[in-house]
Order: sequence, then structure tokens, then C-alpha cells
Amino acid sequence: MNLTEKTVLKLGGSVLSSRENIAAVPKLVRRYKNPVVVVSALAGITARLTAFVIGIGEDKSIDGVEKFVNRLGKIHLELAGGTIRELSRKQTLQRELDFELSRLKNLLQGVAFLGEVPDSVLARVLAFGERFSALAVSHVLSGAGIASRMVTSEEMGLTTDDNDLNATVNLAQSRQLVKKALSGTFTAVVPGFYGVSGKGRVTLLGKGGSDYSAAAIACCINAPSLDIFKDVTGYLSADPAFVADVRPIPRLSYREAAELSYFGARILHPRTMEPLYGQGIPIRLFPFPSHDGSTPSTVIHRKSQVDEAVVKSVTFSDDFSIVEVRGDGVGLVPGLLASVAKSVGRAGLNIKSVITAQTAINLLLESEDAKKAAAAVENLDLHAVESVRIRESVGVVAVVGEGIRTRPGIAARMFSALATAGINVRMIAFGASPVAAYFVVDRKDRALSVTSIHKAFFSRAVAT
Ligand code: ASP
Ligand code: MG
Repeated sequence: MNLTEKTVLKLGGSVLSSRENIAAVPKLVRRYKNPVVVVSALAGITARLTAFVIGIGEDKSIDGVEKFVNRLGKIHLELAGGTIRELSRKQTLQRELDFELSRLKNLLQGVAFLGEVPDSVLARVLAFGERFSALAVSHVLSGAGIASRMVTSEEMGLTTDDNDLNATVNLAQSRQLVKKALSGTFTAVVPGFYGVSGKGRVTLLGKGGSDYSAAAIACCINAPSLDIFKDVTGYLSADPAFVADVRPIPRLSYREAAELSYFGARILHPRTMEPLYGQGIPIRLFPFPSHDGSTPSTVIHRKSQVDEAVVKSVTFSDDFSIVEVRGDGVGLVPGLLASVAKSVGRAGLNIKSVITAQTAINLLLESEDAKKAAAAVENLDLHAVESVRIRESVGVVAVVGEGIRTRPGIAARMFSALATAGINVRMIAFGASPVAAYFVVDRKDRALSVTSIHKAFFSRAVAT
């Protein structure tokens, strides 16, 4: 068959969370022709691996390693093995899992002796979660009569840079290798979430990174689409926990989806869209378990469309903190912003946004990065800087839609809705992205911010 017909499917951890769900996977895969199936770890496994490896690093004890590893084996055998009828196949799965488990055990014992968990080791440990689930799923598929086998990132040569926990895929280097490894009349099951650096080391693609690996693979094989199965109903106009009359969003442009992920909608890894822009490969989001899979809840594609309401979704995040670098005139000292940003970058931290004024530079970061970022800036000991402070209890609210920057009146409508609700806006960024505007409020105000803005845009769209 022609390789270009291979679709890439991504199954999230929530899909692989029960025996019933796993048993439904062969039926889903049969709807495609020799697809590539990229999997996350089973639900909860990455978190368990993380907690355990950090714990034994601190305890410097190998007590419990054997038990932990056996427990992981049992979970996978129970969930996946339970859906495999043939005894010999179950035994093969067990054998192959045992092999992986013994490698993990050695690694964990190494951590206990070392008494620390370097990022490179953490990456190797966490990648096992996806390898276990890929092994399990490939045997479930084979057991159901679908020619299938696991193909790992090491085997394929899914190549990344050297960043241990937040790597970027090198698409140019990976393309031919991945294409070759995945061609043929079989269903490849690929463990997502990690790649291999040029030096041959396992690198993680960031939290929730299986979406990003699936996109990179779709790009490499020029798939007709990337079909993502998740336990969500696709993108919505707001979080249904805050807003009663949310609307589904059937279509989003790549950049709208990217901004929504960046600012808190946890549906996709924010880098999922990146490898797909060039070839215009659409992402189709399907709820799982899904009925017949024929109607995706949201399609993300190249075409941008300005809706009547302009705004398509209002999202928020509680994961941001602000590092405020104060000093009279910091905004006017040439090169100061560069030094500040460089120091944070050197500490391996990502600045999500910067808003500056003459007397303050405000860095928006993920909350877990704020302390380290503040320390990095303080260590610079800059003359112009009087204080470096962290503001933690903030909420970032973002409004996303094609046309936001170009249509007049959007900002006015947004901020008058907030003013009417009596919300104090602490910081605003409008215009940085053509499709997103965002602002910072006290965390306690972010629910009311979302509901007020949603009402302002969506009630009016109905009325007109
Ligand atoms: N298992 C990894 C995580 O939990 C990757 C993924 O699920 O996409 O972050
Ligand atoms: Mg995930």
C-alpha cells in the first residue's frame, strides 16, 4: 500500500484506563488501514513513576523497588492481558514486559545508590510508562488478529535536541528514518512522549508530550490526518465547570488551538500543532469511547475563519506566576531585558510572556518555575534592579479567536464586561498574538472573568 495512506492515531492515557476501553481499541483500529498508533502511558502511570523515582532518590534505599516494579507489571497484565484470549500471546506479553521491567528495576536501583535523579535519568525512567503501554496495546491488537508490533523512538530514530525533559523534535533528521521504519502492511504501535537525542539519549517531549510525538510522526510520514482520541468532548467556548451554556467548537485554526493550549485549555500539548503547519495535516479530535468515529468533535486545520462572535473560546490558567523585576527606569536600560531573559533561559526555564513598563519588567512563568527564575535574576545583581518579587495567586485569562487583533471593538467589549463585573485587571497583553488577547487578574476573580466575557460575546452573537 501507499505509505501516504497511513493515518496516525493517538490514544491518550485516559483512553487506556480500563479493561473495557482497552478492549475497544481493536475495533477502532480496524476502521483504518495499517495506521500508526501512538500511545500515552496508561492513566496515572507517569505520575506513579515520577513520585517513586524521586522518592527513592531521596531515601537512598532500594527497599520497595522490586515490589513497585512487579506492581507495574501486574497493572499492565491485568488491564491488557484481560482482553487477550490466547494463552501463548499472554505469555509473550508477560515475557516482553518482564524484560522491560528488569531494565527499569536496574535503573531504579542505580538511582537509589546515587541518591539523586539527574534529568537524563528521570527521562529514561518516565519513558518506560509509554513503552509498557505500547507493548500492551500491540499485543491486544495482535491478539485480535491485527498484524501489529511496537516500534520505539530508538528503533525509528525520532531524533530530538539535547533537552532532557522538554526536547524539540528535529523533523529534518527524523523524516526519512521514521518513514522507513513505519512503512509496510502492519500497524505500528509507537510509545509517545519521548525521542532520542543525537547522542542516543532518551529525551522527553514535555508534560503530555505524546500528542507532540504523534504530530511529529504524522509530519514525517505525511499522514492524511492526525486522529486524537481523548475522554473529552473536544474544544468548547469555555470551561463547562464555569459556564453553563458553553458551545462546542467544530473548527479551529492551528494557531487558535496553539494559543488555547498555551493559555490553559489542557486538551492538547501546546506544541502539537507545530509539526503540522507546513503540510497542513489536520488534527481530528474524537471523544473516546466513541460511537462510530465518523464525526470528530473538533477539527484543527490550516484555514482560519473569523466567526460572527470573533471570540471562539475564553480560557484560563492557574498555573502562572509573575516575577516582577522592579527598579526606576528598568524599562529604559538598554540590554537589561536581554540579560534578565538570558539568565532565566540559562536556568532551563521558559518565559511564557513578558510585559514591561518603565519601572517594572513582569515575567510570566509557569508557577513551578517562578522561584528558580527569580533566583536567576537576583543572582545577576543588576544595578538598575531594586527588587525581584514573585506574585503567585494570579489567574491568567485568555480570549482566543481569528480576527481578535484586526476587528475593532473587541478589547472594549472585553474590558467593559470586566468593569461591569467589578473585576480589577492587573495586566493586559493585546496584540502579541494575532488570535489571542490575555490578561492577569487575582486568582479569585478568574471564574467571574470567564463567565462575564463569555456572556458578553456569546449572548450578543445569539441576539444579532
Ligand atoms: N505520559 C506522559 C504524561 O503524562 C505523556 C502523555 O501522556 O502525553 O505527561
Ligand atoms: Mg496525555
